[in-house]
Amino acid sequence: MPTTQPAFELAACKDGTYVLPELPYDYNALEPLYDEATLRLHHDKHHAAYVAGLNANLTKLAAARKDGKYEDVKALSRNVAFHGSGHVLHTLFWHSMKPGGAKPDGEFAKACVESFGSVEAMQAQFAAATKDVEASGWGVLAYEPLAGKLLVLQAERHQDLTVWGVTPLLVCDVWEHAYYLKYQNRRAEWVDAFMKLANWDFAAQRLAAVRK
Ligand code: MN
Repeated sequence: MPTTQPAFELAACKDGTYVLPELPYDYNALEPLYDEATLRLHHDKHHAAYVAGLNANLTKLAAARKDGKYEDVKALSRNVAFHGSGHVLHTLFWHSMKPGGAKPDGEFAKACVESFGSVEAMQAQFAAATKDVEASGWGVLAYEPLAGKLLVLQAERHQDLTVWGVTPLLVCDVWEHAYYLKYQNRRAEWVDAFMKLANWDFAAQRLAAVRK
């Protein structure tokens, strides 16, 4: 089962810039279950705003790198996570519906049985979890590659999970438990030490694996 590569072109970026993908159906194709007016507003205005915000903040980060000025890096990184996750999730959302729907079958149905006991149990858990998302957010059916399991997740604030769909290549833990015994409150010292330990070979291997 693929972990990161979509099985088809999602058309959510072009020449290195994020773009608003066209809908895979007409605006009125999901009527009456999902109405044309809502779909137009949702896609043309809301999703478009995520795309614009993502590109704008990436441009600001490019300027910060050029000038070596990182005073705004926290806000810019948060904005990239917020708009980037919004762009990824909405792109997936349009494809997550189709006129008339589709029933799970084949390998996908088998994976559902392995992870949830049955297709119906997956659907029941997905619907229950999605209805129970606190405030605004998403219900998500996801593939977890360590165990090869399907999981149903709730995303209350999509930016808290950084940009959905990315594959982590290298990570540095800055929870206090990771450095407090030796570095106490001096997180920057710990990060500088980590940078001397960083295994870019591992990152390179993972990049090569996901680009396949
Ligand atoms: Mn939305």
